[in-house]
Parts: sequence; C-alpha cells; structure tokens
Amino acid sequence: MKYKMIGYGKQTIEQDDIDAIIEVLNSDLLTQGPAVEKFEKDLQDFFDAKHVCAVSSGTAALHLAGLALGWGPKDIVITSPLTFLATANCIVYSGATPDFVDINPVSYTIDLNKVEEKVKHYLSIGKNVKAVIGIDYAGHPCDWKGLRQIADKYDLQLINDNCHALGARYLNDKGYAVKYADIVTHSYHPVKHFTTGEGGAVLTNNLELDEEIRCLRTHGINKNHTKLDEPWYYNMDKLGFNYRITDFQCALGSSQLKKLDSFIEKRHRIAKRYNDSFVNIKNLIIPTEQSTIKHSYHLYPLQIDFEKIFLTKVQFFEKMKKAGINLQVHYIPIHFQPYYRENFGFQKGEFTIAESYYYNELSLPIYPDLSVNDISLVIDNILENISK
Ligand SMILES: *Cc1c(COP(=O)(O)O)cnc(C)c1O
Repeated sequence: MKYKMIGYGKQTIEQDDIDAIIEVLNSDLLTQGPAVEKFEKDLQDFFDAKHVCAVSSGTAALHLAGLALGWGPKDIVITSPLTFLATANCIVYSGATPDFVDINPVSYTIDLNKVEEKVKHYLSIGKNVKAVIGIDYAGHPCDWKGLRQIADKYDLQLINDNCHALGARYLNDKGYAVKYADIVTHSYHPVKHFTTGEGGAVLTNNLELDEEIRCLRTHGINKNHTKLDEPWYYNMDKLGFNYRITDFQCALGSSQLKKLDSFIEKRHRIAKRYNDSFVNIKNLIIPTEQSTIKHSYHLYPLQIDFEKIFLTKVQFFEKMKKAGINLQVHYIPIHFQPYYRENFGFQKGEFTIAESYYYNELSLPIYPDLSVNDISLVIDNILENISK
C-alpha cells in the first residue's frame, strides 16, 4: 500500500512555472540563451546585487567563490561546523585548510567572538586567516555588521553561504547579503525557498570577482580576447569548469522568484503555529528570531531534551515515522565526518555548542504547500510523544 509521508521540505510548482519551462523547450536555445540572462537580471533586482552569475548548483557557486577569491594551499578559511557539507568542501577544493568556529547558542550562526579569538590565535602563531564563510543557518541571518567589522579589522574575505536565507531580511533589508559579504552563494535545490531543480548563483557587488566567476563557469575561456580577424578564436587563460545552468531551469527560476515573498509568508505562518504550540512546553526549545532580522524559515529546527522525555532520538524518529512524518536533522557537525577527522585532525568535543545542538535538533516539516491538517498532525504527534 502506498501512503503519504510528510518530509521536511518540498517545492511548490504551479501551472505558470510549467508554462515558462515549456516556452523555452519550444525555443531555439536550451542553454546559453536569453533565459539565463533574464534570470540573472531578476536576481540582481530582487537581491540588490550589482552582479549575478547563475550556475549549475549551490556547490558550484561555492567552488567558484573560493577560486575567484584566490584560495590556495597556504590559506586558512573558517566556517561554522553546523552547515551542509558543501560549505566546508569548497574550502578543500581550492587546497586551502578548513577550520571551524562554534555557533552562537541563540541564533545558531557563527559566533563572532569566537571568530575573532580564532583569527587572533592564528596571528599569535604567525598565520593569517584568509576568509570567513558565514551561513544564515535555517534562515536566520548572521550578525553581518559584526562579521564585516572583524573582516575589515583583520583583512579577511567574507562569504555568505546564503542558501538557507533566500528572502530573509537583515536590518529590514532583503538585499543585505551582498551589502556585507564580498561574495554570496545561493542554491535553488527543490528543498530551498524556490527552485530550478538543480541550480545556484554567485552574487557580488565586485565587478572583477564577477568577471572571474563568469570565466571559470565556462572552462576558463576569456571572451575579451577574441581576435577580430579570426572569428573562431578564443583564449583559455585559466583552468575552468562547465558550471552552466540551462535556459529552461532559469525560466523556472524567474517564474519561481516572483513568488518568493509569498512563499516566505507561508513559511512564517507555519512557523508561527509551531511556535505558538511549543513555546511554553517543557523540554522543547523553539528557534529564535532576533529583532534585527526577518527569518526565512528554510528549516524549523526544534530542540528536544531527549533524556528528560525518556526517549532516544531514534525512538522519537520511529514514532513520528509511524504517524507518516519524516523528520530530518540539520546537521551532523562537519568535524564529525571521517573525511575531516582523518585529513584535518578534527575531534568530537571541539565545538561543543554545535555538538549538543546536533544531539537535540530535529527539523520539522515546513514548506509553502504543507496543509493545515498536516501541520496539526505534526504538532499533535510531537506533543503526544514528548509527554509519554
Ligand atoms: C543546499 C546547500 C548547499 C548546496 O547547494 P546545492 O545546490 O545542493 O549544491 C550549500 N550550502 C548550504 C548551506 C545549503 O543549504
């Protein structure tokens, strides 16, 4: 028997999205055509970015960010352990050394004081930190003003892995990301706020970085070195990739982007129902939304004190699954991963706030199409299972 399982995230695709894709499929160019440029322009307008380069995934965006910023084997790049693997992997792609800084226990984003401590620690042993990647975890922006101050003080590059916070606001500004960070990366994977299937983008206000990223997106070919007398000629100056995105994906992206604000409002309504249901319940911690920000609720992370409810997390998962609810956990701290332990010597116990957060956290279903009945089902099952 087939029955419905509710997952933590899901896309919303409507007829106008499908029509937009079909229009491109009936046109001459499936890739490298006008829909890519249109999508980039739409993203520029929405996110107040001077330059946007659409790419094949959020991971490709991160890879290109590190390359454009010139990371290499001598460099140290800091990020939070509480993120998706790709954030840290992009540091390793460039040959640089990753290091982590624990999260702030309230916002779950990188802890500013600990960033500064880490930078100072490296200085004291004669090493420079090259860059910091902040993640607007779950949709809660980092303290970007504070991060910018530290970056300016110690001459660091600042990257915003903004994949969780498309449509969030910081100091009442939805174009905040490129304002504070040198480079911003997006993903449009179906679990994110709007989708192109696979896809992503690199946003920046820096023209040189944008040119570098565009060149690396297409094999390192430099379009400015075309010889007029040899119309077939092109130069490859550096080693690039094929990280392009197709036109039909971008048509979907442009169609979806129009709905981003309404998608965020729907996520807020769901978060409010969860908040109202869980705020005064013992052994539960709901996410906070600091007054300086507007959350975008890519995730709704709930923390449960499993010891106090006499259930393990595995048992809790099983019980929810029986009720048709597939929970998730975001994330296994990156320094727990065998690859990072074996290659960089990280150990459990190094970033204790992220670690205890991981033990307690589960991500509840949250996406625009989640029905009122399903929200109630989630709430009822959580409340029932914690009070047994
Ligand atoms: C989704 C995500 C990525 C990777 O994006 P893909 O498009 O899946 O490659 C990177 N960082 C964060 C924080 C993400 O949530």
